[in-house]
Amino acid sequence: MKIAGSRVLVTGGGSGIGRFLAERLEAESAEVWVLEADAARCTELREASGGRINAYTCDVTDPATVDATLQAIFDTGFEPDVLINNAGIIHSEPLVNMLSRGERVHSRESWRRVMSADLDSVFFVTSRVVDRLLAKRRKGVVISISSISANGNPGQSAYSAAKAGVNALTRTWAKELGGLGLRFAAIAPGFIDTPSTRAALSEAAVTRLQQQIPLRRLGDLESIYLAARHVIENDYLTGTVLEVDGGLVI
Ligand code: NAD
Repeated sequence: MKIAGSRVLVTGGGSGIGRFLAERLEAESAEVWVLEADAARCTELREASGGRINAYTCDVTDPATVDATLQAIFDTGFEPDVLINNAGIIHSEPLVNMLSRGERVHSRESWRRVMSADLDSVFFVTSRVVDRLLAKRRKGVVISISSISANGNPGQSAYSAAKAGVNALTRTWAKELGGLGLRFAAIAPGFIDTPSTRAALSEAAVTRLQQQIPLRRLGDLESIYLAARHVIENDYLTGTVLEVDGGLVI
């Protein structure tokens, strides 16, 4: 599929990776729509793009809100060719915190919150968009932003499980819907230099990490864009989980 002229829907497009992808794809002449929970980020994105990116306030963990927002978008005449499931939260917490004086076991609330943001959201948005593509007999590509944590990362039970779920859905849907002209891929970033990564890691942790990464640096946002572009443009690619991590998981 060619990027120029394609219609792209990006979740969580108000910050970090999602925002970069939205702006980069718009610059390559795609028509870009964003679903973003943070209303202020929606306004900011619309203004920064001179109104060329349509940003809707939408919490993608809430199925009723997702359904209503997507219907409103479809009613404007927007028919998506590409969906990028990017919205998500990063969360670290040990299964059992032996140093805690109170509850030692991983919070049930944070487990549910992460599964909801990182896995349920992908299911809610993709099912509606795929239904629309099938009803309109259109081809399409779904890219979900996973993580190398899907391989199992100590201290990240919920996040690792949710991202492994994203990879499983990607492969399942690739097999289930390939015959109908739909392609699915996941991009699994390592550590990308975004505000959320910088907020989560101390300077010392970044320095230690850089020594472990074969390419000796955090990834840049352009590397994720190049992976997304490859997935969109290569019509024989489906079911793939593309790791973009500077060699960290080798
Ligand atoms: P970020 O926090 O900078 O941006 C995420 C955006 O998604 C924010 O604008 C946020 O408001 C929005 N969002 C969160 N929950 C939402 C919801 N329920 N509904 C709608 N919007 C919502 O994060 P980022 O670093 O750009 O990460 C984006 C994605 O990439 C996430 O899925 C994350 O797990 C994944 N990822 C990031 C890295 C990294 O190094 N930054 C590494 C691996 C995977």
